[in-house]
Amino acid sequence: MAKKRIGIHLSTAGGVFRAAERAHAIGANTFQIFSSSPRMWKAQQLLGSHCEQMRALRKEFDCAPLVIHTSYLVNLCSQTALFREKSLIAFRGEVERALALGAEYLVLHPGSWKGLTRSEGLRLAAESIARAVDGVRFDDCDFRVLIENTAGEEFSLGGSFEQVAELIEQLKGIVPVGACLDTCHCHVAGYEMVTEAGYEQTVRWIAGTMGVDAVRVWHMNDAKAPRGSKLDRHQHIGQGTMGLEPFRRLLDDKRFAHCAFIAETPVDEEGDERRNVETMKSLIRVQGAERGAQKGRVSA
Ligand SMILES: [Zn+2]
Ligand SMILES: [Zn+2]
Repeated sequence: MAKKRIGIHLSTAGGVFRAAERAHAIGANTFQIFSSSPRMWKAQQLLGSHCEQMRALRKEFDCAPLVIHTSYLVNLCSQTALFREKSLIAFRGEVERALALGAEYLVLHPGSWKGLTRSEGLRLAAESIARAVDGVRFDDCDFRVLIENTAGEEFSLGGSFEQVAELIEQLKGIVPVGACLDTCHCHVAGYEMVTEAGYEQTVRWIAGTMGVDAVRVWHMNDAKAPRGSKLDRHQHIGQGTMGLEPFRRLLDDKRFAHCAFIAETPVDEEGDERRNVETMKSLIRVQGAERGAQKGRVSA
């Protein structure tokens, strides 16, 4: 069976390739980065030598997939044409940098449709993405744009699995596309992740909308706020309103065996990144050990 891919969002301070070194140092075999400052419109230029180093280090450390998270400023369904245009240019830059880095995935929040209707927002988002990637060739690379589900805040597109699925549907044939689901966003948007029966229902819901194969990345975040609160505040895995169980279940779910599991947990103290990666790894180890023990008992 393929190796589980477990990692976390990491800093690129000192050069984009440094994130690969950081990932390896804390025992992660996948990671997420911003390819430019997520709160500035003017993107930094990536050095060709840094992109090369990123590829070489990822190969050396067997670190994949590389996930890039789009800037927070990008709103591809803004009601303001000028803002939408700025977002479109920024998003094209995101795609170009992702391809230059050899990234497998580019995660995108679909945006806010404030001032419009939801279906108008959806149409604008799809249209903007299509225009942004016009002329870009995706044939000879393993790359997808992943639409991320949101916490379900008012006017945010992607608060339901149906909306994520609808956007994916509209983008087929325009750009290679899939989904990134965030555990915290699912929980605070009202999906049941905590109980076993509820989790099964949620997975059936995913299967019936975008389909489990479309899901390529799970953002592994516990939540500070209660289920259904629509408040997006990430917490360390196992220390929030979700607890360890949903994460254990996800990591063991064969339906998501093809996914990368990447935390976006807070960094309150030094070592928090390593601790959250270790928490995820321990959830797998414990389960494997238990199963081994059970097998032992059966055959004894
Ligand atoms: Zn996320
Ligand atoms: Zn979030």
